Amino acid sequence: MIYLDNAATTRTAPEVVEAMLPYFSEYYGNAGSIYGLGSQSKKAVINARKTIAETLGAQPNEIYFTAGGTESDNWAIKAVYESCQDRGRHIITTKIEHHAVLHTCKYLEGRGARITYLDVDENGLVNLEQMERAIRPDTILISVMYANNEIGTIEPIGPIGEIAKEHGVLFHTDAVQAYGHLPIAVEQMHIDFLSASGHKFNGPKGVGFLYVNSKTRLGSFIHGGQQERGRRAGTENMPGIVGIAVAAERAAAYMDEHAAVESRMRDYLIHCIEGKIPGARLTGHRTMRLPGHVSFCFEGIQGESALIMLDMQGICASSGSACTTGDPGPSHVLLAAGVPEELARGSIRLTLSEENTMEELDMVVESLAGIVEKLRLLR
Ligand code: PLP
Repeated sequence: MIYLDNAATTRTAPEVVEAMLPYFSEYYGNAGSIYGLGSQSKKAVINARKTIAETLGAQPNEIYFTAGGTESDNWAIKAVYESCQDRGRHIITTKIEHHAVLHTCKYLEGRGARITYLDVDENGLVNLEQMERAIRPDTILISVMYANNEIGTIEPIGPIGEIAKEHGVLFHTDAVQAYGHLPIAVEQMHIDFLSASGHKFNGPKGVGFLYVNSKTRLGSFIHGGQQERGRRAGTENMPGIVGIAVAAERAAAYMDEHAAVESRMRDYLIHCIEGKIPGARLTGHRTMRLPGHVSFCFEGIQGESALIMLDMQGICASSGSACTTGDPGPSHVLLAAGVPEELARGSIRLTLSEENTMEELDMVVESLAGIVEKLRLLR
């Protein structure tokens, strides 16, 4: 098998699994219990919070564990909307956000929110002047993703944070694809809320976190017990929390090394596809893109058909976002980046990890070239 779908999910690192295992059967105490077994778990949560905070230049009390990126996005946006209604109901986001953000905004529109969905250019980049012009006296939140899951484009998060701060508007970034892969400093970037998800950086699935700047007020999301300082109730997912912290530490330690390896392979793969497959169009920004992210549209084919044929050859890839699999329409991200509808149907995303090899990439290019040719003949 050749796994090229690391934007969908990553392999849980062996050291992460090893750290998690005792929390199933040995240290199984509830972090809320007062006896020793419980305090063991409590200590692990405290350490995990500290570890994650350090990777962001944040304070431990600014980290809240959640069940993943989707929950973190929902929490930040819904809670800001609820707690800032005295100031306004206007939220600015972009047309290329993940559905965890877009569908949350749509839901809030049904409850009186006014949402501006910013355009992006052909590379998937937001326009800072357009963003600044969109700010109104009733704007309460700007939510822009750090890096796009479908086309890999990295947005100018620092300058966006600067604009938000100048105008006294809160700033949320969905960093699910960026965290663990790109450096993040929440204070310097003026980020008020940041969503991340364990399974995107070799951690476990079903656990994530939301960074909340302690200077902001953010209401509770899940009501119940006192866990996560009463803001996100529910017995802690101990193996998950321990696992995500080990994964975060590992990702931070190897970030530069992995990024160097992945971006070299990424550029090689882009070069080979462009050289060997006619009618291939790179989507997203050529250089301002995630280290391991390659995405193309191929003229005259359906991406889904190519994926099935790649799978038959043992290659795991995707047509864009795993969350939209089964949705027959072309991707909202590609359409927003101006890709014609017909061409957008032929999209394929290949996302690498440091475990891939150049030999694998050569095999993938050869397979893909044959598949694209075959599909075009069948038209
Ligand atoms: N945001 C982005 C940019 C993503 O890529 C994803 C997952 O693909 C999510 C949010 C959702 O994260 P999770 O799978 O942890 O709910």
